[in-house]
Amino acid sequence: MHRRYHWGYSGRDSGGARGSLADHPARVGQIDRALNHDPRGASKPVLALTLDASQIQLQPKHAEPQPGLGDALIRPTRMGICATDLELCKGYMGFAGVLGHEFVGVVESVADRKDGKWVGKRVVGTINCVCGKCDMCKAGLREHCRDRTVLGIAGRDGCFAERFTLPVWNLIEVPENIDDDHAVFTEPLAAAYQIVRQLTIEGRPYITVLGDGRLGLLCAQVMSQLNATVRCVGKHTEKLQLCEKWGVKHRLLEDVGLRNDQDIVVDCTGSPSGFTTALGMVRPRGTIVMKTTVASQALKEPVDLAPLVVNEINLIGSRCGPFSEAIASLSGEKVDVLSLISRRAKLADGVDALKTAAKPDVIKVLLEP
Ligand SMILES: [Zn+2]
Ligand SMILES: [Zn+2]
Repeated sequence: MHRRYHWGYSGRDSGGARGSLADHPARVGQIDRALNHDPRGASKPVLALTLDASQIQLQPKHAEPQPGLGDALIRPTRMGICATDLELCKGYMGFAGVLGHEFVGVVESVADRKDGKWVGKRVVGTINCVCGKCDMCKAGLREHCRDRTVLGIAGRDGCFAERFTLPVWNLIEVPENIDDDHAVFTEPLAAAYQIVRQLTIEGRPYITVLGDGRLGLLCAQVMSQLNATVRCVGKHTEKLQLCEKWGVKHRLLEDVGLRNDQDIVVDCTGSPSGFTTALGMVRPRGTIVMKTTVASQALKEPVDLAPLVVNEINLIGSRCGPFSEAIASLSGEKVDVLSLISRRAKLADGVDALKTAAKPDVIKVLLEP
């Protein structure tokens, strides 16, 4: 029997983090509850930040997450709010359930005895939960698994909770020299390194990173490690000022002409207008890398794609990236992530924290238990 999971799946309907993977074809079997359940069988509801029909709510007694076979139960110690969370709140992906996909935490228990070595480990985790059986998985493209659920984004409750579940397969142990404030940036930093994997850099190209937000400032630092002339272009003087620290060139968008002279433009604006601006900056036969995902509900005007054709632009979509490279980068202090932390909040104040994260002068908001 093969069941496909729908993007609009509501985690709450089936009682929380157990989500759809618990009865996933790859996970059919007896769930060994001995390692993760209170012997008295008492349920332990958790504090969780949930989304339902664009309503963000703090649930003091969200159903206890139930690890399926191969899953770990994780207690997050830091969580990061990302632009994707804000887009989900506007209706992107039609997601309902516990929000959150950026975390570092400690494995409290595992469902399967053979995974016992993970208990007590400090971990980060990749967010795509895959079947391992489909054509994409077999081709080594697990991030594109046709039956995937995605932590806090599609078909699976996320990490903005006291505890949540993720397959052990997704976990990576955090080296001791990377503290929680750094480790929580692993997921977005990996997304920045994905661009490096997708691009071919030849002859010291001119690269514009468009956007001075959470992802833009990470991408600007990562791109500046390449043999390229890199500038970050944004709308906020105070945010762009951070580039001074890192020796990265920066300009205000209003001071930059759309001259079709950039070899590569990376759109990290998180804005529906970002792509049109990128089209005005990239040279003929140049490349645009799209890191922005915008809720379709936010698209007010149609995008004119003619310049894409006329100028023969290469368009690259770019999503999740290599955790190993992000961890190596954090370990070697190749990027500055601490300067990006604007605010810290308790999970219990998560509703306000999400509102704060949407403000234009705020970069990263971290949640703590
Ligand atoms: Zn994110
Ligand atoms: Zn698959």
